Amino acid sequence: MRVELLCTGDELVTGLITDTNSTYLEARLFDLGVKVERVVLVGDVRPDITQALLEAASRADVVVVSGGLGPTADDFTLECAASAAGVPLEEDARVLGWLRERYAARGASINPSALRMARIPRGAEPVRNPEGSAPLVVLTLGRCRLFFLPGVPREFRALLNAVVLPRIQTELESRPGRVFRAFRLLKTVGIPESELDLAVAPLAPLHPRVVFGFRTHAPENHLKLMAEAPSQAEADAALAAVEADCRRVLGPRVFGADAEEYVPVLLGLLGRESATLAAAESCTGGLVAQRITAVPGASNTFVGGAVVYSEKLKSAWAGVPPEVLERHSAVSRQTALAMAEGIRAACGATYGLSVTGYAGPGGGSPEDPVGTVYCGLAAPGVPTRVDRISISGDRDRVRLFAASHSLEMLRQHLLTAAVRP
Ligand code: ATP
Ligand code: MG
Repeated sequence: MRVELLCTGDELVTGLITDTNSTYLEARLFDLGVKVERVVLVGDVRPDITQALLEAASRADVVVVSGGLGPTADDFTLECAASAAGVPLEEDARVLGWLRERYAARGASINPSALRMARIPRGAEPVRNPEGSAPLVVLTLGRCRLFFLPGVPREFRALLNAVVLPRIQTELESRPGRVFRAFRLLKTVGIPESELDLAVAPLAPLHPRVVFGFRTHAPENHLKLMAEAPSQAEADAALAAVEADCRRVLGPRVFGADAEEYVPVLLGLLGRESATLAAAESCTGGLVAQRITAVPGASNTFVGGAVVYSEKLKSAWAGVPPEVLERHSAVSRQTALAMAEGIRAACGATYGLSVTGYAGPGGGSPEDPVGTVYCGLAAPGVPTRVDRISISGDRDRVRLFAASHSLEMLRQHLLTAAVRP
């Protein structure tokens, strides 16, 4: 099935807003196994929109059109659709009824510009919009089905999910030679995208029914597996086989799958041990705490911690001896170690994390240039571990990856602790 997308609006071609409707639709369709063939952006110019509709309809089975259905003078997508189809615009009694109800519910009476939204191309099918006034309009042009949706992302998504995607799915299912698909998203941390690609590359020839895809969500990298087969059972089996191989190759760097998210997984591991956590942060300024506390229920495990940016507070709150700071500096293995142990003791937590480093752009030393970060993990019954890492990129990136590395040290520890006798 060939699907194209047409987004209209001057704001999309003048840099005022970013087209997020396309990316949303593309992702949702890809989940159904359909790749959008082409996305076209057009400004509010009648002949251009008409032309773009005709061209897309001549190539595609389905065209999804976004924007220009509202009541204002710059909303004329349906006018263009009517001229593309060679039919007039006509007031539709159903749409008029929906508009009257909607305005009455707000205690308002319908005005002439709102009435424009009831005018749709003759022969088109309107579908009520639960989130707004302008309806979804479905029009057939030759062998192509066109879906006209409001541009407002909330309305666009609601109608897409409630109406457009189910219809596309039904259409896919009724086609002969139907392909069945099964998906798995494996989520990793601590492995760059290129290495992830290299690690799984030898598996591809062993799984000819599977398409491998890679996505970066810094600091995570995701591996998307899509199995295609003539039956659902075969697609599921092909997916299970490739997933097992990928998990074997990637090991504990896979932290979760599909909708699973990093911090909830980590909190789950901590919860299994009834363990608590505290963090002392310097260059990340609370990013570790922020990521953890963004998850509801974090209070069961995260007791708190301190942002210890100055040397004075590294000593006062995280218990770093002044001699350590003087002899080794605030960004050092010894300071990270003392911070992790100090915050663990001060907070009475099972685990203590620490982060200290040079986020840049200034600062750093010859031995420890900008991007050098020391992360500490103090845990019961084992020596405190400190990792020295070098992170490239700007200040935001250094801080993001530093916080992530710190959490990842804990996750890896909890995983190995789980297999200890
Ligand atoms: P309205 O009734 O609000 O006029 P409409 O269907 O006429 O809806 P537009 O006027 O094209 O839609 O867009 C309304 C608003 O929706 C825009 O100002 C913009 O903020 C947002 N929008 C439109 N198209 C997109 C898009 N492709 N991606 C993200 N946002 C969009
Ligand atoms: Mg509008």
